[in-house]
Amino acid sequence: MPTKSTLQIALPVPLPGCFDYLYAGDIPPAQGSRVQVPFGRRTLIGVVHGHGQSDYPKLKAVKAVLDIEPVIPAELYALCERAARYYHHPLGEVLNYALPGLLRQGQDAQARQALRWHLTERGQHVSDDQLGRAPRQLEALTVLREHPKGLSPPMLAALDVSSQALAALRDKGWAEQREEQTAPSSPRELLAETHLPANAEQRRAIAAIRDADGFVPFLLDGITGSGKTEVYLQAMAPVLEAGKQVLVLVPEIGLTPQTVQRFRQRFTVPVITLHSGLTDRERLDNWLAARDGQARILIGTRSAIFTPLANPGLIIVDEAHDGSLKQQDGFRYHARDLATWRAQQLAIPVIHGSATPALETLHLARTGRYRELRLSHQASDSRRPAIEVLDARSASPAQPLLPTSLQALRDCVAAGKQALVFINRRGYAPMILCQDCGWQAECPRCDSFFTWHRSDNSLRCHHCDSHRRVPSRCPDCGSAAIQEAGSGTEKLESLLNDALEVPVIRIDRDATRRKGALDAQLARIQAGDPAVLVGTQMLAKGHHFPKLALVVILDMDAGFLSADFRGPEQAAQLLLQVAGRSGREGAGRVLLQSRHPDHPLLQQAASGDYGALATTLLADRQLAGLPPFGHLALMRCEAMTLGKAMDFLQQLSNMTMPEGVHLLGPVPAPMEKRAGRFRAQLLLQADQRPPLHGAIDALLEQARALPAGRQCRWHIDVDPIDM
Ligand code: ADP
Ligand code: ZN
Ligand code: ZN
Repeated sequence: MPTKSTLQIALPVPLPGCFDYLYAGDIPPAQGSRVQVPFGRRTLIGVVHGHGQSDYPKLKAVKAVLDIEPVIPAELYALCERAARYYHHPLGEVLNYALPGLLRQGQDAQARQALRWHLTERGQHVSDDQLGRAPRQLEALTVLREHPKGLSPPMLAALDVSSQALAALRDKGWAEQREEQTAPSSPRELLAETHLPANAEQRRAIAAIRDADGFVPFLLDGITGSGKTEVYLQAMAPVLEAGKQVLVLVPEIGLTPQTVQRFRQRFTVPVITLHSGLTDRERLDNWLAARDGQARILIGTRSAIFTPLANPGLIIVDEAHDGSLKQQDGFRYHARDLATWRAQQLAIPVIHGSATPALETLHLARTGRYRELRLSHQASDSRRPAIEVLDARSASPAQPLLPTSLQALRDCVAAGKQALVFINRRGYAPMILCQDCGWQAECPRCDSFFTWHRSDNSLRCHHCDSHRRVPSRCPDCGSAAIQEAGSGTEKLESLLNDALEVPVIRIDRDATRRKGALDAQLARIQAGDPAVLVGTQMLAKGHHFPKLALVVILDMDAGFLSADFRGPEQAAQLLLQVAGRSGREGAGRVLLQSRHPDHPLLQQAASGDYGALATTLLADRQLAGLPPFGHLALMRCEAMTLGKAMDFLQQLSNMTMPEGVHLLGPVPAPMEKRAGRFRAQLLLQADQRPPLHGAIDALLEQARALPAGRQCRWHIDVDPIDM
């Protein structure tokens, strides 16, 4: 049986490992190049992982090679491999995720003004017999000889020149790709505006980052308004000056247009964004501009960590504590952690910036593995307001705002300023119920109540897409005494409209659904006239509202009381982010209405000393073996009945675990039923990572083998953040 050349292909299918295909060409495409292969009855686009030999008779052949150059360069490929291993996710799916949509569909990975192929100086003197045994290469050489001005890839394709042959000529140093001759651009001044004069703390931080040689992870721990962005900008300048690129990850670009604006205003180099609001073509163009080095500053959301970079010099993770950096479905990676891995691979510095660092990051800094840079006062000379905790036990569903809060709002707008009322719940009221029999409107598909949206008089579930009209009578007893409980943004908007003379501007997902609506609302706020803003956490991130002098915060208790061990951390982060919106110019006031005003964690957060709160929480975590001291992975399962989900996990939990790995559960998930499916989970805990990863491998192998696994959907989440 003759052995034949094969390629190992990583395919976007939910199966571990690569797939072997026959390959007849003379030079195998490099790792990271795309190929088309038959898979079952379909044709898939996969990525070359490696090549080898096989005598297995039934292998199918590669249909087409799509790239001359790998679309995923070696460094990025290594990042994908590491992520696939760490998150126990199939490599083919990770690589597929790393590609822009159009490349997944097989489009050409060339920038639109493509580079042209030319013969090199040496290539022009090659004699035909030097290529006597490689007819395709000789053909390619001949075609290039006939076109001294070079040929673009589409022209070469039209002339039926083999891309492998071109690559072979290039590897021999006989052909190359280069741009059209263009006049060298005159050197431009890098700065479009001068830097702000940095204060002492900022200077120290900037100097530390500028002096970093190779991989250094920094935690830039600076309260809101302390000028972290200015530190980024000044630390970036020498990197850009040296011709390198800077990658900036931000939580949500659509919500923070001002951040992008500040980078564009400061520098003359091309700045591009990478986020879900782009069309497929824009996304590909931006991706190519990053890969080819034309784009110098890249600002993107979490998936931007997979952007190829021609000449990377610095990675910045802004708002590095933000939960949106963790992908919560499919390939469940944390872009914050990948940013550090990538910087390490590239031997460049990485900055994690936050006013409220994740406890994991803080722990790394406190144990000396990250270098901590602190900005402890506000950059402009305004004072940071203290958070006043108000006892809200007397607030009623009809009037959720306490008299103190209402009076403060009146005073604020009377003084010509703006105020913000924060409540992290959209809709009018989170529940409606019957006063006579106690019936409550519940989503039939979820363990959750319907939210009443008064604007279209509907009941909506915020966990699935169920909705219906508000009943005029109780479906159980027929009573007309239907009443709401609790408050959402719509209710506050309506109450404030009645109580105050100034415009009330609501910002939540409902009010900003239309394209351009958010920008319009933000522009109204920026205009600076007295107004009250009512909003959810959409307002908490990164906005600057110069006229904001008062913040009133409602309903923040749940997080501090939550059974989820991350609850208090996340609540404190949100509280301080929201509070940070005020007082950017002139002292502001922050009122926190709470039904548990004496709760110690809430008190500690309100005092503004996030570091002290973190110390308290870290001590608890250490005792419990929770992150960052212990490591977790969660096996989740969804099925048509709770019994099926539990049964599957129960069978898995009978496995013997390696030394040092503890299995907890299975238990029903905190929201047992969601969108019509029942959910259960199994928790793996270990003090060391290696045995945990070993245990996950064994668990996944078992899960794939168990017949019960085919009747449910399951996945593993490494370092889960919601559980
Ligand atoms: P952060 O990102 O830490 O919340 P920003 O970078 O947005 O803070 O800065 C807050 C405000 O302070 C911005 O309006 C910024 O222009 C201003 N600022 C930052 N650094 C300085 C400085 N050195 N001197 C004067 N103003 C500054
Ligand atoms: Zn009733
Ligand atoms: Zn629902």
